[in-house]
Amino acid sequence: MTASVNGMKKIRDSSDRCRFQRNLLRWFDRHKRDLPWRQDHDPYRIWLSEIMLQQTRVAAVIEHYRRFLRRFPSVEKLASAREASVLAAWSGLGYYRRARMLHAAAKKIVNECGGEFPESAEGLQELPGIGRYTAAAIASIVFNKPIAVVDGNVERVLQRVYGRNLSGEDLWDLAGALVSQRRPGDFNQAMMELGATICLPRQPRCLLCPVSDLCAARGELERPKKATHQTKRNIHYTLDCRNGSILMVQRSKNATLMPGMWELPEITNPGTTPHLSLRHSITVTDYIVRVFRRPVLDNLDGRWVRTSRVTSLPLTGLTRKILRAAKII
Ligand code: SF4
Repeated sequence: MTASVNGMKKIRDSSDRCRFQRNLLRWFDRHKRDLPWRQDHDPYRIWLSEIMLQQTRVAAVIEHYRRFLRRFPSVEKLASAREASVLAAWSGLGYYRRARMLHAAAKKIVNECGGEFPESAEGLQELPGIGRYTAAAIASIVFNKPIAVVDGNVERVLQRVYGRNLSGEDLWDLAGALVSQRRPGDFNQAMMELGATICLPRQPRCLLCPVSDLCAARGELERPKKATHQTKRNIHYTLDCRNGSILMVQRSKNATLMPGMWELPEITNPGTTPHLSLRHSITVTDYIVRVFRRPVLDNLDGRWVRTSRVTSLPLTGLTRKILRAAKII
């Protein structure tokens, strides 16, 4: 149900802000999810989790996070790795630019900062792949800097608490005014946790909310409708398996999307019944993917890879999905 907000401001002064912080932190201490990156305040581990969590759900990150840490347990190990190994370890998480930036930042930390992370948000933002949100998250969670974060969850909570559709700097200003000076890292995580588990995009669970008496909306706000520009595209691949090997091709190093990653050969005119079909979305394109079992022309610039070794290549997310559907991996 959409709440009608009559402009009733519930947080008016510093005593309201203190009550908001106290209620939220008490709730967080009792109910926070037990997540692997909450075991300590190690900058490398927190940084890795923040990068993985960009555009990816918590449940999808947990296993990848553990595996990546086993493979690269420290910033030094990551810095000295080959890019192909980093991409292979990242495989399945998508948005590979994040992995390349992570690798570049690790090299910079080791080669230019003596292996130490900068402590300020400004210093952190000088590293590749670290923007305003990630810098604030690391500075507050690891180094206890009194700085607020704004991500999609925090934005929704703030808009409802203040009963207004806010954007841009207004959100950062309000978040900055509300953040706890004593426990900024926990406060930021608590705001994100509240958005992820209680103040849900649809049907927020206001009866369970620790700050409901300070919330102006107590429900969904009416939102301006966003236009979507999703386009549809058909795409065809061939799955050519012979003698325990599979023919794979590498995307150009200059491709805009997923440069250097490995995939199945794309074909334009299949002319037969597909072996399998599936759907896949990348940013604003919905793909209808058809996969054919068909030998590839000999002049194709590909590589035969043992099926048992194929997951050691940095595969695109779609390729991984196809190989799983075909029961090859
Ligand atoms: Fe969100 Fe409801 Fe809590 Fe307000 S009362 S912050 S709308 S869950």
